[in-house]
Amino acid sequence: MREREAVQTILEKAIQQANAKKAGHITRLQLAMGELVDYTSESIQSRFDELSRGTIADGAKLEIRLVRAEVQCMACFTKYHPNEGDIVCPNCGAMGAKILTGEEFFLESTETD
Ligand SMILES: [Zn+2]
Repeated sequence: MREREAVQTILEKAIQQANAKKAGHITRLQLAMGELVDYTSESIQSRFDELSRGTIADGAKLEIRLVRAEVQCMACFTKYHPNEGDIVCPNCGAMGAKILTGEEFFLESTETD
């Protein structure tokens, strides 16, 4: 997913949650982001600032929790943490693996006032 679309989706969800609580303003958003996602917190925040202008989320701060990546070797089924994006099994040396975690990007919670 492209960064702009991903941030737009997060923003829409946050506004929905705030509306459901009948909150007037969103102050803070907690996001979870997998370590294999190559967005930076600065670019996400500036994207968010741009997209949220004029909405009830205008000025909200983003807090990003990094989710550790885990992959599973398709040859021997060992689960491991990929090193610097290198996906080579430490057990059997096979390259390529199924990604279990590390690609997520989602809204965990919204704080409002
Ligand atoms: Zn293996």
